[in-house]
Amino acid sequence: MENNNVAIVTGASRGIGREIAKSLAKRGIIVVANYNKSEKEALKLQEELKKEEIAIDIFKADISKKEECEKLIKYTENKYKKIDILINNAGIDKYQLIDEVKEEDWNEIINTNLYSAFCMCQGAVKNMIHNKKGCIINISSIWGIVGASQEILYSISKAGMDGLTKALAKEVGPSNIRVNSIAPGIINTEINNNLSNQEIDQIKEEIPLNKIRENTRYCKMCKLVN
Ligand code: NDP
Repeated sequence: MENNNVAIVTGASRGIGREIAKSLAKRGIIVVANYNKSEKEALKLQEELKKEEIAIDIFKADISKKEECEKLIKYTENKYKKIDILINNAGIDKYQLIDEVKEEDWNEIINTNLYSAFCMCQGAVKNMIHNKKGCIINISSIWGIVGASQEILYSISKAGMDGLTKALAKEVGPSNIRVNSIAPGIINTEINNNLSNQEIDQIKEEIPLNKIRENTRYCKMCKLVN
């Protein structure tokens, strides 16, 4: 399927980002899939798609650092000349009581989840404004809306991401650039590995279907099915 659009997906080596990157690449979109620590997984994704004769570009960058975000943007612009889609997906979480939170925790979580999204947006919108076209999707979280006990930094980062989304949507909307957040509930990926069975059961009780999404797949009509 031919498609001229160019997308950057941050944190595409594992979990949700990997599935987004795969799904875009399968639609013929040129994807730059960012990873940081999980090089093996990123290469595996490339191999997996290659078997289906689908190309995907991978690029290592620690997006918690502004200069690394700039490298990722520059790489994409130099190679593909434009950025049509930006998916700010990379994220981390840590379970802590408020008095356990140290300055380095603040820097790590806020920089990875929020400052990265700001830096990536700042870099990408220049290109998008020039082309009068663009789509930015920030992967936020339900915890940014309702708050999560013992996940204060995570909740702050996701609430901040929603603020970024709303403000930027107004600023760049007139240039034909859409900015939206998606706030998933719980999805079974490695980010939730620290949850105990008891905590998982408590979360399930609050979900109308009483289950956590496992292996998600998309039907032909693009509706999520389980
Ligand atoms: P995973 O832990 O499975 O994957 C996290 C991804 O983020 C990895 O690809 C990891 O790459 C990347 N990443 C982390 N730090 C950095 C960094 N400094 N630079 C570049 N990449 C980085 O988590 P999920 O797939 O579950 O989470 C994806 C997003 O979805 C996150 O923003 C999360 O907050 C959000 N979300 C998840 C929910 C869930 O229940 N799973 C619910 C709501 C929101 P690498 O390993 O290569 O470093």
